[in-house]
Amino acid sequence: MSLLSQLVDALNAGSLRVVDLTQPLGPDTPVIDLPPIFGASPGVTLETISRFDEKGPAWYWNTITMGEHTGTHFDAPIHWITGKDLPDNRTDTIPPRQFVGPACVFDITAEVAKNEDFLFTPDHLAAWEAKHGRVPKGAWVLLRSGWSARTTKAAFLNVKADGPHSPGFHQETSRILARERDVLGVGVETVGTDAGQAGGFTPPFPNHTTMHGAGKFGLASLCNLDQLPATGAVVIAAPLKIVNGSGSPLRVLALVAQ
Ligand code: MN
Repeated sequence: MSLLSQLVDALNAGSLRVVDLTQPLGPDTPVIDLPPIFGASPGVTLETISRFDEKGPAWYWNTITMGEHTGTHFDAPIHWITGKDLPDNRTDTIPPRQFVGPACVFDITAEVAKNEDFLFTPDHLAAWEAKHGRVPKGAWVLLRSGWSARTTKAAFLNVKADGPHSPGFHQETSRILARERDVLGVGVETVGTDAGQAGGFTPPFPNHTTMHGAGKFGLASLCNLDQLPATGAVVIAAPLKIVNGSGSPLRVLALVAQ
């Protein structure tokens, strides 16, 4: 039997499961707040073109408006100044092979429950690799923080007087993953791939700076990471083919063996 027919048989038999790592996308989707000196990304609006009415008696469709970085979304290298001149750095030019890879899931839910600013350090990576093996080249590294359980905008963005608070990667961990492990990119449950306080780090937003400077990708606002094993799942994360796009909302799927 061919490899692909084995795949289809396993999906039909339920021995392979498709897990949706995507949040619903709509007017209630929270969007990152930047300081007012910067441009703001609009939230989602849906405007009906026609819905079985005089503008379209037999069809329903909408116009959608949103920033590229809204909801569960993909960050391309061109999103960041460090990646702006790399080859194949845009949503329309990234080779599609790079959208598919094995998942390595770092479970930090216990640490984040105690410290919402928790950073995943190289020591945490070493401990994970001692247990699960070396992060392979071409992996999607997913930070399972439990943050997707925060269902209100206020709890999800978690902005306080000194700015947003949410977990992320230590800069050196981002460097090791990008340069020494050669991953596809990192995915998180939070609104962005840097920690909430990372605007005040040196450099600011070190995960974006490091990952995109190495031609790697980001996935933000993921969910259902608790349904994935630490290793063994395969993630498919393909952004819209927006010409010159810096990223896009997308449907992120994981194939998981039962
Ligand atoms: Mn983004």
